[in-house]
Amino acid sequence: MKKHDSKPTTTDAGCPVASDEHSLTVGPNGPILLHDHYLIEQMANFNRERIPERQPHAKGSGAFGHFEVTHDVSAYTKAAVFQPGTKTDTLIRFSTVAGERGSPDTWRDPRGFSVKFYTSKGNYDMVGNNTPVFFLRDPMKFQHFIRSQKRRADNGLRDHDMQWDFWSLSPESAHQVTWLMGDRGIPKTWRNMNGYSSHTYMWVNGSGERYWVKYHFKTDQGVDFLTQDEADRLAGADGDYHRRDLFDAIKRGEHPSWTLKMQIMPFEEAKTYRINPFDLTKVWPHDDYPLHEVGRLTLNRNPTDFHTEIEQAAFEPNNLVPGIGISPDKMLLGRMFAYADAHRHRLGVNYKQIPVNAPQCPVFSYSKDGQGRTQNVSDPVYAPNSKGGPAADCQRYPEDTTWAADGEFTRAAYTLRKDDDDFSQAGTLVREVMDDASRDRLVSNVVGHLKAGVTDPVLERAFTYWRNVDEEIGNRIANGVKGS
Ligand code: NDP
Repeated sequence: MKKHDSKPTTTDAGCPVASDEHSLTVGPNGPILLHDHYLIEQMANFNRERIPERQPHAKGSGAFGHFEVTHDVSAYTKAAVFQPGTKTDTLIRFSTVAGERGSPDTWRDPRGFSVKFYTSKGNYDMVGNNTPVFFLRDPMKFQHFIRSQKRRADNGLRDHDMQWDFWSLSPESAHQVTWLMGDRGIPKTWRNMNGYSSHTYMWVNGSGERYWVKYHFKTDQGVDFLTQDEADRLAGADGDYHRRDLFDAIKRGEHPSWTLKMQIMPFEEAKTYRINPFDLTKVWPHDDYPLHEVGRLTLNRNPTDFHTEIEQAAFEPNNLVPGIGISPDKMLLGRMFAYADAHRHRLGVNYKQIPVNAPQCPVFSYSKDGQGRTQNVSDPVYAPNSKGGPAADCQRYPEDTTWAADGEFTRAAYTLRKDDDDFSQAGTLVREVMDDASRDRLVSNVVGHLKAGVTDPVLERAFTYWRNVDEEIGNRIANGVKGS
């Protein structure tokens, strides 16, 4: 709600009030009167200003912009948002994972990279990170993982021993932890990092042909990072460093952009590929699946009300549009439930009516009533009906992003393929992607992290973990911690 000097202050009901400064009292020095309803409205609203923070990804910020298709990928997807020449309004939110809503932006952590495309066929959300992989491959472990990265029960402190205890008992985390402890674990700014879907998704073209795909948003500003020392200093000097950088850059007219490139795997190849293509702890090596350019995402508009446009923004991987579907990645299947559930808890069941979450296309849904509903519902309120209500159209919108599965119900790890193991891609990252200077910083970052409160037996397990990634790096880390 805008405030203008020339306009009188009102209550939330629009009734003019007599004072912004003085409560209603019995004489200037007497007690405040209970019937000062304007004072009570001010106090009551203030007490309710905070909504529950996100768990995780509480600290972040974002901006608006657009996505413009520059290359024809209609052979792979019929999604309206990716058809040649299409320009779509977007919202993006960047975040850290473990820290609370007021935590420093420069703590070492993966960054969330969530994009909402307001497409002509409904909202499409890509809820990604600035890393192509993740710590886990089964959603059963996610809650435990996040607790291990947050705070202890007894003293309310974050605890490196707890973090390494979990990681060293979860070898599938090695690739992501190696990435995290390297240079990209603290981006210089959000503008200087890539975004990845991490998960594999499905694309379907106009002929019904299916492809498995991974999204790579490559920063046009160049990848850049902060050293641990720079980040530590900034955490004290300016905890909102990344939030401020994005806002100020857009305000100056420096509009950051990312080029979207896809890895595309024909549907049948997934069955025999040497790596499980749905395992979130692995990348598809570029030599096997090169990048196909699609278009450019540009941010050019700051929020004007952080709370309504960013804090209340709700991204969910289940916001899918025709031509795009999910894959058998177990983590992604878990997220299909978890995100919308979190939003219902944080924002209420009608959170999609909050303007930032509302689609730009018409909605013909049978949802009705509930707390916070603002849009009118009209009859008929049920389907099927003979009263002219909306009807699903399986000819135009078939359930075509599907795959076959069979087997007994079980609780088991993915079946291993020829090149599935927890350490080799992490080893490739260390040996073939990093240079000497990045490897030195990796060792220094891990040594510093382990020295800050990690004790045996967790410490010895951490050394073994790193020796499994790379023998030499593991020995250097062990020597660094032991002081030799
Ligand atoms: P490539 O040499 O084709 O790709 C290496 C990738 O690593 C590039 O995309 C590069 O991103 C990125 N990179 C460069 N430096 C670092 C760093 N310090 N930390 C993290 N990533 C970095 O090799 P492969 O495709 O065979 O992958 C080799 C390893 O590279 C993987 O095991 C994985 O750890 C990492 N990687 C792979 C990606 C993939 O999709 N295949 C994506 C990102 C990382 P950029 O071009 O932007 O500099």
